This record gives sequence, C-alpha cells and structure tokens, in this order.
Amino acid sequence: MFQHVEAFAGDPILTLNEQFAADPRPAKINLSIGVYLNDEQRIPLMGAVAAAEERLAQSFHPHPYLPMAGLPAYRAQSRALVFGDAHAERIATIQTLGGSGALKVGADFLKAWFPQARVWVSDPTWDNHKGIFGGAGFEVGTYPYYDRATHGVAFDAMLSALRALPAGDIVVLHACCHNPTGADLNQQQWRELALVVQERGLLPFFDIAYQGFGDGIAEDAFAIRHFAQLNIPLLVASSYSKNFAIYGERCGALHVSCKDAAEMQTVSGQLQSAVRKNYSSPPAYGARVIATVLEDQQLRAQWEAELGAMRQRMKQIRSELLAQLQAQLPGGDFDYLRVQQGMFSFTGLPVEQIRKLRDVHGVYLIESGRVCLAALSSAGVAPVARAMVQVMTV
Ligand code: PMP
Repeated sequence: MFQHVEAFAGDPILTLNEQFAADPRPAKINLSIGVYLNDEQRIPLMGAVAAAEERLAQSFHPHPYLPMAGLPAYRAQSRALVFGDAHAERIATIQTLGGSGALKVGADFLKAWFPQARVWVSDPTWDNHKGIFGGAGFEVGTYPYYDRATHGVAFDAMLSALRALPAGDIVVLHACCHNPTGADLNQQQWRELALVVQERGLLPFFDIAYQGFGDGIAEDAFAIRHFAQLNIPLLVASSYSKNFAIYGERCGALHVSCKDAAEMQTVSGQLQSAVRKNYSSPPAYGARVIATVLEDQQLRAQWEAELGAMRQRMKQIRSELLAQLQAQLPGGDFDYLRVQQGMFSFTGLPVEQIRKLRDVHGVYLIESGRVCLAALSSAGVAPVARAMVQVMTV
C-alpha cells in the first residue's frame, strides 16, 4: 500500500543535532540549535512560569475543551502584548499551537479568501515559512533581504522588490530578531516600508517569534504597532516558545488587524472555521500558565525581569565573543556580532570552515553559517573564539 511513499529527507538542523548527541568529545559545543539555553546550558524554567504552574496545580481544573478561538484571557493578553492597548476593538486574535500554528491557520485563512495572491518571504528566511505557505497552496517567492557586505538589511533592494509587487500580494516580515540572520530594519526603515506597503496595497504578515529578545517587549513590536497605527490591514503570528521558554506547550497567537469591529467579527469567525478544520480547538495547559503570569502584576513583573536577563545574557555573549575574536584576529570582520541581534547571527564563514569547526574542534554550526549565540555559555566563548580563528587562518 505504501510502496510509493517517498522517504522524508529530514530536517538538516535536527540531523546535525543527532550527530552532535552521538559525538563522544566532552568539549563539544552545539550552536546549531534554535533554543535559548542558560549559562548552565539548560533550557530555563522561568520562575514566573514555575510559580504560575504551582498556583494552577493547587486549584482544581477539570479538562474541558477550550473554545475554537482559545482561552479568552490568553487571547486578550496576547493581543495587548503585541499591539499595546490600541485598536483592541478591531483586532481578531485566536490562540494557536505556537507561532507555527499561527502561520498555518493564517495561511489557510488567506488561501481561502485571497486565492490568487502570492506569498513573498525574505531571502533567507526561517525554512518553514516556505513549508507552511507552500503547504497551504501558495506560490512562494523571495525578496532580497540580507546584505553580506554590511551584515545588515539590503534595504534598497528589498524596497524595490516590494514596490514591483501587485496589490494584494502577501509579504512575510520578521518583526524583530530575524531568523536566520539577526539583521533587522531600524525604525526609520520600518516607517519607509510601511509607506510602500500602503501605496502598493500589499498585505503584510508579521512573524514575531522573539519578542523581548531584541531591545524590549514594546521596542520589538515597533513595526507591528506602527503599521497598525496607520490602519494598514495586517496579520501577526506571535509565539511564546522563546520568551516564556515554553517550547513544548505550543503557545502562540494569530492576530488580524481589521478595518473596524464588524469586519473583525467576520474575520474572527473565519479564523475559527480554519481552526475547526485543522484541529478543532487548541490545548489548554500552556495558555492557562501564560494567562496567569500576564494577568498577575507581580508574576508579570517577574517574567519581564527574567526575560530582560535573558536578553542581557545574549548581548553579553555577543560582546565577549566579539572582544575575543578581535583580540585574536585584529583584521577580521566580526562586526556582525555587534550589528545583529537576537539569538542568531550570520557568521559568513564558508562551508569548508563550518565543517572544520565541527570535525576538528567539535563546534557545531549549521552550514548556512548561522550561529545560535543564545546557546553559548560564557565558559564556551574562549574555545569557540579560538576554534573560529584557527579555521579562518589555517
Ligand atoms: N517563526 C520563526 C522566525 C521562528 O524562528 C520560529 C521558531 N524557531 C517560529 C516562527 C515558530 O515558533 P514556534 O516554535 O512557536 O512554533
């Protein structure tokens, strides 16, 4: 029956992780993953999350289905975290299975109501963007994004490409901490981009998987809030996987900013229809934990402080690695560590050097050259800097 089924090629990052797990060298370092680790090299259990879980454990909770749109308190908090207090009456928000689930439900909704549109993603982007939008039936193209020379955004090329798109096409934008490059637009560039999107009648779909990992909770949502302020219709896929370190509970939200309250009601109904056809209703546990934290002043303050410490740790690791690399190879161009932000940077190292890092030094990066700085401990900075300089100079 299943003879014709083709083997799944697997995910290169997961395959590399299996190789890392099987590597017997005790000093090996894994910088290929997409999770935040603390300085003890563990996924943290945030104190605010643990406290909320304890509270929930003490109150009796049977396990009814949640509504298709998810837990109301979680939806309200999720909208406010992304948009602030503005425009509540015209934003449709549903709870989703992580940021991936938000992208998937959003993609199904868009395919149903904008069947002719094409989807445009940054070059490069998180691989699953192509998988999810392609899987929903869209033709997916790319717009220029990364400038290897400056380690920043190829903004002019990006703008010209978007200017050439037909009205109604969908543009996927990373709101902050771009994956995989770490290169973000600045506020002035977001303002210019908003004008182009508005002029051309494009439909932006923001992906915000790292809110709070860049400059702060409100700062990282700048682009979304600015576009919403201009009344540009837009979608947002938001995720708590990273900023609550709650990966496996699959917590995210999909938001659609509409013209007015009536349009919001209609769109909300269609989002629920898309949920019904996918998985009926979302899981409850993680949403209860997050709503408990965000609704409680004290737990919320604790969470914000813990998130701030995670952000600081990533910045600290960036500057320590930069200092060591500059000291050991004064002519080298390591500016990407300074100008890029979030969990990732693009090292620009060629594949042969990435392979040498892994085979000779036990330092694992994916072959695109993306490095996950959020997985590096302070103890790992010196060996990684030494290994990088060796592969670059030998
Ligand atoms: N978008 C981007 C850019 C991501 O990097 C990720 C996760 N790595 C996601 C979406 C998906 O998030 P989640 O794990 O919450 O599904």
